[in-house]
Amino acid sequence: MFNRIFLDSIYLKKYGFKKGIRYLTEQTNKQIATFAAMEFSSKLIEKAVNEIAQLPGIGKRSALRLVLHLLKQPKEQTGFLAQALINMREDIKYCENCHNISDSSVCEICANKNRNHQLVCVVEDIRDVMAIENTGQYRGVYHVLGGKISPIDGVGPSQLKIATLVEKVKSGSVSEVIFALSSTMEGDTTNFYIYKQITDADIVISTIARGIAVGDELEYADEVTLGRSILQRVPFEKSFKTN
Ligand SMILES: [Zn+2]
Repeated sequence: MFNRIFLDSIYLKKYGFKKGIRYLTEQTNKQIATFAAMEFSSKLIEKAVNEIAQLPGIGKRSALRLVLHLLKQPKEQTGFLAQALINMREDIKYCENCHNISDSSVCEICANKNRNHQLVCVVEDIRDVMAIENTGQYRGVYHVLGGKISPIDGVGPSQLKIATLVEKVKSGSVSEVIFALSSTMEGDTTNFYIYKQITDADIVISTIARGIAVGDELEYADEVTLGRSILQRVPFEKSFKTN
């Protein structure tokens, strides 16, 4: 950093301020351009890198690293990967009951007769279903909205699977709806929007408890979390009994 400032000041002295600034801007632009335009010696590699680089969180450099890794692997390994992606995209279905991603028209959770179908947990997407399933504590079913209401991202209620949830509640097949969306403004807005539509139904409407994480020191918890933990305190016996 110091070197850069030192060199820049030399250029400014050498070319005069106006000319120096123009020179430095040109140099910086050149550097940016070199970084953005990767020179490929193979069009095949370039195409593969460009495709992989479209995935979220993967830049061109990471994409190149992945492509070079695939080249080092046996040829059939790439075939397995490509086939798995094609099969996934072509054969994937959405459960007609809860909208979760599924291999069949009704997902395994909805098809399971041992689960409590009157208990419906409202979540954003399949990752939340997986997270709750991993706890092994929940025996109800889910309703996957497919996102949260977010005007900034252009996501309105009609783009989410809200109507089918309201229908489900109004049909009388649900005894409790549990909101398990993330504790953000979008999550709270979505909860409230759904709540307004089902509040007249004769069911229990609950939300997952927000509180201090297991193993966390109290003094490091933020005020909102700590405040909610106090307001949503539970009887002590419930703190060590499950269900
Ligand atoms: Zn389902």
